[in-house]
Amino acid sequence: MDRSLMFDYLYSEASKLMEEYDPCKIKDGECERGRRIKKGTWRGWAAHENFCCYDCKYLTDNGCSVQALWCKLWVCSPDLEEELPLDFKIKQRDLLEKAKGLLVGRGSKEDSLKYGEAPGGK
Ligand code: SF4
Ligand code: SF4
Repeated sequence: MDRSLMFDYLYSEASKLMEEYDPCKIKDGECERGRRIKKGTWRGWAAHENFCCYDCKYLTDNGCSVQALWCKLWVCSPDLEEELPLDFKIKQRDLLEKAKGLLVGRGSKEDSLKYGEAPGGK
């Protein structure tokens, strides 16, 4: 499969995974991280009204304007990841493995095809 088709497949699978398990639980303009910070139970990095999309060039008033594969497969905190079922982690790991060479932090599809690198790359 060529890289563009592979990207589309992985983005679709990653979107389904996040819809199914919903780790961020965004509701009324707030995500799980924001709620926990308010409750004082958050151990991660600080809050911002735009969640982890803070200061991203692709963020618009209507949300993310691109297909960002790395963002789709990423959860911001080990705390949240630990709470997700094993099934999620296995599927996430499998997709990350397949996405090697297509992952760019805060990157569009075009960025992935141009600059893609191994998981963990920014
Ligand atoms: S990954 Fe982003 S949207 Fe999801 S809980 Fe963390 S900060 Fe919120
Ligand atoms: S590229 Fe990632 S960080 Fe940027 S707006 Fe889209 S989802 Fe948020």
